[in-house]
Amino acid sequence: MSGDIRRQIAALGASFHARRLTHGRTGNISARLDDGFLVTPTGKSLGDLDSDELSLVALDGRHLDGPRPSKEAFLHAAVYRARPGARAVVHLHSTHAVAVSCHADIDPADALPLLTAYYAMRVGRLPVLPYHAPGDTALEPVAEAAAACDHAFLLANHGSIAAAPDLATAADIAEEIEETARLWLLLHSQPTRPLTPIQAAALQPGGGR
Ligand SMILES: [Zn+2]
Repeated sequence: MSGDIRRQIAALGASFHARRLTHGRTGNISARLDDGFLVTPTGKSLGDLDSDELSLVALDGRHLDGPRPSKEAFLHAAVYRARPGARAVVHLHSTHAVAVSCHADIDPADALPLLTAYYAMRVGRLPVLPYHAPGDTALEPVAEAAAACDHAFLLANHGSIAAAPDLATAADIAEEIEETARLWLLLHSQPTRPLTPIQAAALQPGGGR
């Protein structure tokens, strides 16, 4: 089973990289196992992952096996501790999600309106966590508290985090955030009509189809 998950992580990284949802060596992907979680290693492009070269990390952040983990592995650990049902986490520095995370006009309690039904179902609410320098573990308790309430959020001036019961759904959520951020930026300064509360209430927030 771990072999399948390893191959899924490598395939997902290659797919994100080919579609320019990551650049350089940014972004990381993880999946929960019985004894911790597998996460992409530090200094490695998601486009060039080796399924046999992933890091195993405990939920308390200890490096257990494999290459040195991403220095953002503590964010994944925080999400897994806060969300027992989460078995996969995707963190991307995708362009439009980062653009929204830098925007002065967003509500930090919920960055994007419910523009489409799929966004409402897969994401629902998208808080923005305050800026921290890369690798600053002061973000860990902040992320853990946010993940206890929401399965997806933005990190200010940084990127998106999406948690789900499986890798494919976590990827769907991260991609939905990126596409809705792009839509919102396209519509910015244009009159916009989001879903009404009644339309939104008829959907299942956070559900992945
Ligand atoms: Zn990052």
